[in-house]
Amino acid sequence: MNAKVTDPGTRLAMCRKFSPDGHVNPVISDSATFAFESGARMTEMFESGIEGRFLYSRHASPSNTALAEMIAAMENTESAIVTATGMGAISCALLALCQNGDEIIASRTVYGGTYALMDNLMPRFGIKTNFVDINDLDSLQSCVTSNTKVIFAETMSNPLLAVANLGQLRSFCDEHGVTLVIDNTFAPLIVTPRDHGADVVIHSLTKYINGMGDHLGGVVCGTDEFIASLMDVNTGTAMLLGPSMDALVSSGIRKNLQTLPIRVRQHSINAMLVANHLTQAGFSVVYPGLESHPDHDRMKEISNSGYGFGGVLTLDCGTRERADVSMQALQNRGVGYLAVSLGFVHTLFSMPACSTSSEIPLEERERMGLST
Ligand code: PLP
Repeated sequence: MNAKVTDPGTRLAMCRKFSPDGHVNPVISDSATFAFESGARMTEMFESGIEGRFLYSRHASPSNTALAEMIAAMENTESAIVTATGMGAISCALLALCQNGDEIIASRTVYGGTYALMDNLMPRFGIKTNFVDINDLDSLQSCVTSNTKVIFAETMSNPLLAVANLGQLRSFCDEHGVTLVIDNTFAPLIVTPRDHGADVVIHSLTKYINGMGDHLGGVVCGTDEFIASLMDVNTGTAMLLGPSMDALVSSGIRKNLQTLPIRVRQHSINAMLVANHLTQAGFSVVYPGLESHPDHDRMKEISNSGYGFGGVLTLDCGTRERADVSMQALQNRGVGYLAVSLGFVHTLFSMPACSTSSEIPLEERERMGLST
């Protein structure tokens, strides 16, 4: 893809292919498996692969490849693979990069499911995670060891919208020979983590990228070599753990991805408006577009022009009871839904400490400033 085009939305729009049969959307692949003209060709496919051919849809399918190519173009990476969920993408990437005895350093402000994966499940495979303030160099230095293989952070964290210092993380990874993995779910188009040194970029497609609240999905973006390693028939985590996306789903997400630039711009305009109004009304609002946000300048520095600061904002209601009453009132007045998730065409509201971040231990939540 044309990496010289700096605007990720333009790179997306340029992902058109002329189909000789005239389809303006790729045909949805309707085959779990694919036939070969001879046993020798099948053997060749298993041994070294054949350009433009497919063997089995858990490995790859035309529909999934079409979606993955668009996201790789958007994220400015050589390649990508789509998965059934965002968690499928995170677990496949981390289990490919780490093995028994290895360590991860992760931001303590990651999505609760990611935290639980690292804190509860991965230790069963001998992989330990140190959770730190990811922008604090001293914390990083204090826990890096020769076993550290991955630094993991979200571009904009869920739910406190802290912005990762990608440049500093890149330098740290270079110094220690570590892979930088960035979950860019909260900032598609807004930030291109690869341009700031990320080795691997992940999304939950369930959120902005699909945007319609009807599908789950995930993606891992990286080098040709890394993505091919995830698909390896003998050792690939995507191939062997099998979190494959269904072709009907990838076809749907691919169509919705085409309107992502318009949706992200509008999300940002709406969120900025609400953040300003609530601030003026005296509420305590966290939104990276506000000058009061501690990472506002960093966000301006790393963001692509024209996409704003995203569609998520955090409001501190003071007590759980007040948050509850406010959310119910908003739902009853038709403002949106009391539901977890984000990036939907309708407004969603939830109380992270009791839902999407409830997996994070109380003392960690207190340390990161997430009230309950
Ligand atoms: N990453 C982030 C930042 C998320 O907010 C979520 C879910 O909320 C995920 C990953 C997991 O995505 P999925 O629900 O598609 O598995």
